[in-house]
Amino acid sequence: MKFKSVEQIVSWRLCMGCGACAYVCPENNIRLVDVPELGIRPYSDPAKCKQCGECIKVCPGVELSHKPFDNRVIPELLSSWGPILEIWEGYAADTEIRFEGSSGGAATALALFCLEEKNFGGVLHTGTKPEAPLQNVPVLSRCREELLARTGSRYSPAAPCEKLGRLQESDSSCVFIGKPCDVAALWKLRAVKPMLDDKVGLTISIFCGGTPSTEGTYNLLDMLGVKPEEAEEIRYRGRGWPGATMVKLKGNKQIRQMSYEESWGTVLSNHTQFRCRLCPDSTGEFADISCGDPWYREIEPGELGRSLLLVRTELGRRILHAAMNAGYVKLEKGSPEILAASQKALLKRRRNLFGRLLSMRTMFIPTPRFSGFSLGTNWKSLSLFDKLRSFLGTFYRIFMRGRMIPLKPFEKQGVRRLVHKSGVSPMATECGGK
Ligand SMILES: Cc1cc2nc3c(=O)[nH]c(=O)nc-3n(C[C@H](O)[C@H](O)[C@H](O)COP(=O)(O)OP(=O)(O)OC[C@H]3O[C@@H](n4cnc5c(N)ncnc54)[C@H](O)[C@@H]3O)c2cc1C
Repeated sequence: MKFKSVEQIVSWRLCMGCGACAYVCPENNIRLVDVPELGIRPYSDPAKCKQCGECIKVCPGVELSHKPFDNRVIPELLSSWGPILEIWEGYAADTEIRFEGSSGGAATALALFCLEEKNFGGVLHTGTKPEAPLQNVPVLSRCREELLARTGSRYSPAAPCEKLGRLQESDSSCVFIGKPCDVAALWKLRAVKPMLDDKVGLTISIFCGGTPSTEGTYNLLDMLGVKPEEAEEIRYRGRGWPGATMVKLKGNKQIRQMSYEESWGTVLSNHTQFRCRLCPDSTGEFADISCGDPWYREIEPGELGRSLLLVRTELGRRILHAAMNAGYVKLEKGSPEILAASQKALLKRRRNLFGRLLSMRTMFIPTPRFSGFSLGTNWKSLSLFDKLRSFLGTFYRIFMRGRMIPLKPFEKQGVRRLVHKSGVSPMATECGGK
């Protein structure tokens, strides 16, 4: 299907909410809203749209093709994990960053190195909205304190590409940190806006098993007996490894918490976006460096955080080695096997994807176009039973959940009528704007 508008992409559930379309629209006509059941979604005024197609061109939700690979990549990892030059395991040398970070604080430590030692102008990443602590906003951090305040994974919608304009205003190069889809969107954007090349000095991707919608956070709060308006701060993990999910209440500052395993495993993972289940790139293949968890072994109680780092480009390699030499990160070389052992769910999704897409195509449902991800090769590695299961399981779920038909376009349905069923959010919340 040839998409003509972002609303069409949203209605076929292929939007991941990265915000690239809002940034690129030359008419400034695309706004983002957080629809609690879905995620961050764009909508535009059709009367103002000049049909230039820029928003479709940069959308990683509908098309993603791999860049040519560096010929030094680790060959046995290429088909399942994309280009990887080196694998490292370790942590931020700054003990506070390591403790506050999601895994070992490596993403923050590398960004801090760029700020302090490489004269970078800032780090564009994700923080919380001060007046609405359940919401995420793109932020430009310029010092250690700001970076530290924005450590930790936010398991709720975030659209860092929306604010790429902040990089354009910067006098020097900046770091961009985001999920794989955010980094892929930035990669596509650089092709249509080459001036970004001068401003993006390093891209860091965090691994991602899927973004839960805001409804997931509401359900978490519900289980903790907290009303959304009572929450002053929510930390999904970090402050230990993986750390607990913690909600600080306003006023009395009481803290309610549940284990990371319970919050992700029983609540948040049930709210991941539909398009995330069709993701071919969970580990940031378009980034210079990607960071995740080295979960190939049991974590001892009280163990301090550790990160698994994948160097994906020559630029990433140079910066990682320089940060290591300057003492910002403490790392040791990892062997290729630890990746699959650490990220079993992400590997399973990649292997099933070909069957899922095939199933959708037989139902005449528009699917994203991917190339360079070896999806056929990955699918072939499944047993006959698993192949059938991925094909028929997708068929069954799509049929049972009525996903053969598109969502109603926003302009007809009215964004303001997308009400959260618990009544917590009276309307879809407007995101940061331009
Ligand atoms: C939705 C989601 C799913 C994830 N799934 C997996 C997984 O399956 N396997 C795995 O190993 N790791 C997963 N992670 C990543 C993992 O939780 C850590 O973020 C990663 O290991 C980096 O840790 P760190 O200590 O180096 O990061 P930190 O130093 O703590 O820095 C984290 C950085 O990520 C940014 N960030 C936080 N939330 C978001 C967001 N929602 N969108 C964009 N940027 C954000 C912050 O602004 C910060 O710059 C997921 C993260 C998210 C947000």
